Amino acid sequence: MVDARTSLRLIGYWWSPEAPEWPRPNDWVDPDWIPEERDLLAAYLESGQRMPYATAGFSQCRICDKPNGSLEFTDGVFLWPQGLAHYVREHSVRLPDEIVKRAQLWAEPMNWEVDVTWWREQKAHGDQPHGSVGQG
Ligand SMILES: [Zn+2]
Repeated sequence: MVDARTSLRLIGYWWSPEAPEWPRPNDWVDPDWIPEERDLLAAYLESGQRMPYATAGFSQCRICDKPNGSLEFTDGVFLWPQGLAHYVREHSVRLPDEIVKRAQLWAEPMNWEVDVTWWREQKAHGDQPHGSVGQG
């Protein structure tokens, strides 16, 4: 098996009596946060790739007690629980600038260079190149 382990940085876990080592989301609430930046980050967090494993169960919002997802997502660098977007969008929980920056880079079309050639050159599985069948 190929060793392709990727290390991810966990974000978005919050304080509870059972896990007092995590930060408290209420401390991170910024009511003056620019709404466009906040909504962009929420959209980014909702656009992550779902992790293939099941988590321990549904988590509950630490601020409003709403059921808040049971999945985890990644962007290849960070790993976060499904409910993190809710904290950002609904409660204006402002995450560190490094994460906001990634969302801003993602949202800027000029930052994406799209290679259209590779896909055009692909062949259906099992297709033989022309002229190779029946020769030799
Ligand atoms: Zn909530």
